[in-house]
Amino acid sequence: MADHDVVVIGAGFAGLYQLHALRELGFDTVVFEAGPEVGGTWYWNRYPGARCDIESIEYSYSFDPELEQEWNWTERYAAQPEILSYIRHVADRHDLRRDIRFDTRITGLDFDRDTGEWTVVTETGERVTTRFVIAATGCLSVPAKPRFDGLADFTGEVYWTWDWPSEKVDLRGKRVAVIGTGSSGLQTITAIAPEVEHLTVFQRTPPYAVPAHNGPIGPALAEVKQRYPEYREVSRNSIGGAQCADLELPFFADLEPRAATAYLDRRWDHGGLCFQQSFYDLIQDPQANELAAEYVRARIREKVKDPALAEKLTPRSYPIAAKRMCVDTGYYEVYNRDNVTLVDLLEEPISRITPRGIRTGDTEREFDVIVLATGFDAMTGALNAIDIRNGEQSLARRWADGPRTYLGLMSAGFPNLFTITGPQSPAVLSNMLTSIEYHVEWISDLLVHLRAKGLNRVEPDPAAEQNWVDIVADTADLTLFPQAASWYMGANIPGKRRVFLPFVGGVGVYKQIGDGVAIADYHGFELA
Ligand code: NAP
Repeated sequence: MADHDVVVIGAGFAGLYQLHALRELGFDTVVFEAGPEVGGTWYWNRYPGARCDIESIEYSYSFDPELEQEWNWTERYAAQPEILSYIRHVADRHDLRRDIRFDTRITGLDFDRDTGEWTVVTETGERVTTRFVIAATGCLSVPAKPRFDGLADFTGEVYWTWDWPSEKVDLRGKRVAVIGTGSSGLQTITAIAPEVEHLTVFQRTPPYAVPAHNGPIGPALAEVKQRYPEYREVSRNSIGGAQCADLELPFFADLEPRAATAYLDRRWDHGGLCFQQSFYDLIQDPQANELAAEYVRARIREKVKDPALAEKLTPRSYPIAAKRMCVDTGYYEVYNRDNVTLVDLLEEPISRITPRGIRTGDTEREFDVIVLATGFDAMTGALNAIDIRNGEQSLARRWADGPRTYLGLMSAGFPNLFTITGPQSPAVLSNMLTSIEYHVEWISDLLVHLRAKGLNRVEPDPAAEQNWVDIVADTADLTLFPQAASWYMGANIPGKRRVFLPFVGGVGVYKQIGDGVAIADYHGFELA
């Protein structure tokens, strides 16, 4: 008899809801969390300016209607401290901490085919057995740590955005370097520029950033609270698991040029990631994409006073939205400040970090602080960081040529092991909260189904899995996504196989497929 019915790994948004759901259903469930507190990504990523790029109204749980009514977001896009307070509040409200083992990193999972149990191994060597394991380990939770020669010899302070100290870091009067201009870098840069003596940004690939138009949430929240169930239902059936101010989504080819630009204007003025839904086929039609890309380039030229600097900040080498777009609050304007310098690494790559600063070519710039905002080993990183075995094979080995899953939920040969927002599900292409809730509820329903039938084992049929792997790859190939060297493709991790990791078909389509599979007696899964 296993120690537990279910072990959940991770106490972020996904793990907390999974614990709550299974506890309500009467499963003996325990959560293991590597950190000392709930929150997952929102616990660790407390760098200056950290903020969600999905609107607060959407980036919140829908499973608890009372919580929906009682919680009051203050801003259109919540900052990290507010999101962390929310997660803590949920943990307290549902008394979740009593079933969470903090400061306990899982390093191994071993499935015993004879007993049908998983042995879960912690960093300290403790072993716990369980019938089911649910990895709620996050999509962007294992940092990419690019090698910078000499970093260890730097005599100043070094901070990684994903592991920012919890105590206040005083950057006033300091010469600060930031390496990386993805979402984390961009938010950090914008937040610290007014504070530091001098900021030098080391940019390799310029991002496309759209304005957030963030501000107090105002009456919008009260209005949505009156119709939250219907509102959520629309989000659940949308492309991205969140909705745009107006739901109209035209095909580019149906629009006259002036009308197409008017759509871009509307989205730009509204702000946020909905810009990439200006046209239904923005990420499929090269012409549509180029028009949107050129639109953003023109906006950068408007915002940055020095034309040569504006050009360096202008992305040209990849389609817009093929790398995750950034949502900014005054990012480009930062470069109009006298205390900010941009170093274009395409012109002068970093040769090494020296004890006093950063050397590019023959130039050495001196710094008091280096901030690294260099990204994550996305989607598969956290799973591959655990030694997952089924007696014969390791999951990392099986996934050497890219993840192999059925619906992004399970992998053949690894029974009773689920992933929430795993690779080959919409996950990072969606509002994570919508996708997390869908997976938690889908997995919970399946466990109830197994229990009701007196069954205790489930795994994908290899043919169904192969089919899904093909669908994920084939649909990605219909888009412009593979044209960018992005973390969606695993391109930011040396040696990682380049395959498109999430499912591009959208949250609503994915839900239809997932619901259909469940209704058809879990078609494509072997239940035993
Ligand atoms: P990221 O988007 O992968 O950006 C990493 C940055 O570091 C890129 O500019 C990259 O340049 C650069 N870089 C990496 N290795 C380098 C090297 N050796 N030398 C120089 N530059 C290097 O990572 P992120 O900013 O942490 O964001 C990851 C994802 O997390 C986001 O896309 C988003 O999904 C999520 N996120 C969301 C928010 C939000 O909600 N607002 C905030 C932060 C993060 P290249 O592009 O040339 O590789």
